[in-house]
Amino acid sequence: MGPPGIEPESCSPAQEPPASPAPPAEEPEPSEAAPAPQQEAEGVPPVAQGSRPGGPGSKGQAKRCGAGKGSRGKRGSTRRAGEEGGRPARRAHVTVDSSKAKTSLEALKISLRQLRWKEFPFGRRLPCDIYWHGVSFHDNDIFSGQVNKFPGMTEMVRKITLSRAVRTMQDLFPEEYNFYPQSWILPEEFPLFVAEVRMMKESDPPWKPTFIVKPDGGCQGDGIYLIKDPSDIRLAGNLQSRPVVVQEYISKPLLIDKLKFDIRLYVLLKSLEPLEIYIAKDGLSRFCTEPYREPTLKNLHQVFMHLTNYSLNIHSGNFIHSDNVNTGSKRTFSSVLYRLSSKGVDIKKLWSDIISLVIKTVLALTPELKVYYQSDIPAGKPGPTCFQILGFDILLMKNLKPVLLEVNANPSMRIEHEQELSPGVFENVPSPVDEEIKVAVIRDTLRLMDPHKKKRKDNHLCILFNFNLPDTCMDSKQRFPPVSSRLPQSNLQFSKFAIVRSQLSENSSDTKDDLLEPGSTDQLEHDISKNPEASLPSLCLKQVFPKYAKQFNYLRLVDRMAALFIRFLGVKGTMKLGPTGFRTFIRNCKLSNSSFSMASVDILYIDITRRWNSMGLDQRESGMCLQAFVEAFFCLAQRRYKSLPLHEQVASLIDFCEYHLAILDEKRLVCSRGITERRAALVTCQPDGLHLTPATHAPLLNRMTAANKLTDYRNYRS
Ligand code: ADP
Repeated sequence: MGPPGIEPESCSPAQEPPASPAPPAEEPEPSEAAPAPQQEAEGVPPVAQGSRPGGPGSKGQAKRCGAGKGSRGKRGSTRRAGEEGGRPARRAHVTVDSSKAKTSLEALKISLRQLRWKEFPFGRRLPCDIYWHGVSFHDNDIFSGQVNKFPGMTEMVRKITLSRAVRTMQDLFPEEYNFYPQSWILPEEFPLFVAEVRMMKESDPPWKPTFIVKPDGGCQGDGIYLIKDPSDIRLAGNLQSRPVVVQEYISKPLLIDKLKFDIRLYVLLKSLEPLEIYIAKDGLSRFCTEPYREPTLKNLHQVFMHLTNYSLNIHSGNFIHSDNVNTGSKRTFSSVLYRLSSKGVDIKKLWSDIISLVIKTVLALTPELKVYYQSDIPAGKPGPTCFQILGFDILLMKNLKPVLLEVNANPSMRIEHEQELSPGVFENVPSPVDEEIKVAVIRDTLRLMDPHKKKRKDNHLCILFNFNLPDTCMDSKQRFPPVSSRLPQSNLQFSKFAIVRSQLSENSSDTKDDLLEPGSTDQLEHDISKNPEASLPSLCLKQVFPKYAKQFNYLRLVDRMAALFIRFLGVKGTMKLGPTGFRTFIRNCKLSNSSFSMASVDILYIDITRRWNSMGLDQRESGMCLQAFVEAFFCLAQRRYKSLPLHEQVASLIDFCEYHLAILDEKRLVCSRGITERRAALVTCQPDGLHLTPATHAPLLNRMTAANKLTDYRNYRS
């Protein structure tokens, strides 16, 4: 549908432009060092941040630090960031390999310059601290440091895999996961799709649904079309080779100026275990270019009315490029929020719904991601740690309910756009709105991942300043300068800002002495070179998990099932459970009995595994994948705890399994202690033949813990 796109995001790696040339010339190590103290995202709800155009997040740049004590005058008494015992600390720059950054290179370069980190654009013979990949975890062979991709993420967010993962959660928690439109995976669920639609139409005759058909692995609206009836599916041709997700079309979206729009939000998965999620306080809103009308047979094909993809709408004559980040066909999300709040919309509630959607979606994705992770980076094998920026595409319904459209593993980080000079002749020009949002996201992701970070109490003054300044005090000139303008211009703005900030400080008598005069750029230059953080705005990324973990932990049932699955995988590097592993799981968790024999266990394994493998998913390995294991687990739970709702059945069975495994672990611990002490217990110790590594099995419990679990379990059952 529509012309070919230009933003290479969420597409298969093949669609990325070729990598930059890589003569591995070793660059000299930097001589000067600069500390980079860590700043945590503040807990302020993004609402307040986005409640005016250019509010923090987008213009989070407005929040700067560095003008407080120690900037001038009291340097002798206040130890400055980067100084120890009065002498500047010399610390190596963080090193970043950008040789595989591809289309995110430009934004990455700007971020690294702001951070004063050391870029290795052609790679490096020695290991780098951070590897920035444009496409996937596998772009480089890395054995240490950090990489900005998780293994398996691209696979996990494909339309079909995401739909399956969310559907599993919908089975368990239908209310909590109703932010994802009802979906069917074709061709395998075509009969189900037809039957369910017929049933719904019969029960609700006025219902005139529309469906959106999306090819798996597609991006930029490619191959997407709308239909009014299941029989309109283009089944001919290669549906088998290119499966699709069919989704209920949200026909009443929220409109602004009669136009449909969606939201691109950037989410940082900082760590998988323990789970850490951050959300960017500002994102992008991408507008359609034709006024919206509810779908009819006549307008179904009007791409510019129904699809918000930038890559499509940019080809419309109505597309508005704007130098102002708060207007035009692509603008900041904060400007949309501002507009909504001025109309009385409860922005706090909206943000909280969005945060909840993001956390729940990540909780749906992470169990299988852990299976990929242990397969690519088995415990005990050298490997990097991972983090990843994800692009969440969200649609707001007319009633302001956010709906998840998709997740992009490789959201476009381009900060320029194509402009058609004459028909067919294009030129790349800077895109201020992309630059503003994306550079901040990359830079602050790097700040959060800073391997050299050290909590420096001395710097807290600076951080406090960051968090106390009312946003309304900033005018556009005082914002962080556009990234295209560098020091020294920014120094001047910085000093003006320092005065405003200091004047606002509660401690005005103290800070008065410390005011930086406009133009005292030497001092600023010195400060910034010693502490690049001093020149940076507050983080645009806000932690939402574990911050809100308490509210969401009850949803982590599949996560606990994945832990059981991984424990019984056995062989390092595998992602599928063999029949022996499944039997061992049943035996160790004491799940077979007179009414459920081991023969029935084998039948269950064969039935479910065969069906999942026939769905044309990954055929490289034989065995039971996590989703099949989850289905088998549901069956076992339903057999055992008939009368409960599904999530309670499953939770009870997980408790039961974890309890028995805890007992087993304890026995093993006692056994291994015995071996060490007496070297005689081997005869009585029955190994189960599993490969247990510290990362894949539950921590060994001491007697007390196991005993507590037993009591808990009894209480739970009674
Ligand atoms: P792609 O990866 O090809 O961009 P998306 O799932 O993002 O695929 O869909 C493309 C566009 O179609 C979205 O940006 C949105 O405007 C529209 N869209 C997708 N799903 C729905 C839906 N269920 N209801 C309404 N509009 C949708």
